[in-house]
Amino acid sequence: MGKKGLLLCVCQGSCPSFHQMNVFEVLNAIRREGLVDFVALHPQLCADDGDKYLQTLTNDDQIEKLYVAGCDPAMQKKMFRDAFEASGFDRSKHLGVDIRNMTTEQAVEAIKTLIKNS
Ligand code: SF4
Repeated sequence: MGKKGLLLCVCQGSCPSFHQMNVFEVLNAIRREGLVDFVALHPQLCADDGDKYLQTLTNDDQIEKLYVAGCDPAMQKKMFRDAFEASGFDRSKHLGVDIRNMTTEQAVEAIKTLIKNS
């Protein structure tokens, strides 16, 4: 059975778009309910080392769904394309959600909705 994972990406933590939420509490809320098999926080998935991270994470066939909460999902698709191509990861398994300018509660709800509808 494939694993489901949630990554939170936060524009290095310096962008005001992520300052209204407690990113650790967002991850904890999803963990507590057991909605995914693993969670992680990455400062900048669209940077070179973010590419390497995504490539490494998706380099085997274990991931069934990879949820990424951060910026606009269409932007995510473009920015992560090379990493997924390099690892052979089926990019339809990546599902993004925009949580910018949300509070902790709003971000948790947006992520839960994404997970439940996928
Ligand atoms: S992937 Fe999106 S949320 Fe993450 S650092 Fe880049 S622009 Fe920001």
